[in-house]
Amino acid sequence: MIEVIHDNERENRNIKEFSEIAVRQLNFSVDRVIISFVDTKTIGDNPRSDKRTLGSLLLLPDCYKVDIDKDIPSSVQALTICHELIHVNQNVLGRLAPVVDGWTWDGEYYATTSNYSERPWEIEARAKERDLLYSVLKEYRS
Ligand SMILES: [Zn+2]
Repeated sequence: MIEVIHDNERENRNIKEFSEIAVRQLNFSVDRVIISFVDTKTIGDNPRSDKRTLGSLLLLPDCYKVDIDKDIPSSVQALTICHELIHVNQNVLGRLAPVVDGWTWDGEYYATTSNYSERPWEIEARAKERDLLYSVLKEYRS
């Protein structure tokens, strides 16, 4: 189930529909994902000092919480939602898991200090996000 927290009711429905298509196309099921649109300043530590944080994913005990920057263009928000949902899928599959001071990916430990752009789950998400966006938009608009 996907819950969207957005000021605009219409946007809320659209984003929920968009995200449900993305999850269906990624072919996994998930109990609860909360997607909220927040001020980027409230998003946690930016791992990329050279770039603005567009979105972040929190794994809470009872749900996944996806925070998206509310001030970026909606096309970038859509791409960021796809990116974060790919991470949710990675976790559901057991490939990506948060551990003390880092993560494990396919059983291998990566420290929080590891280079962001070289983390294999980020490489995978970046490689897949655009294709996912385009195929979700195709279904969404039809
Ligand atoms: Zn990522």
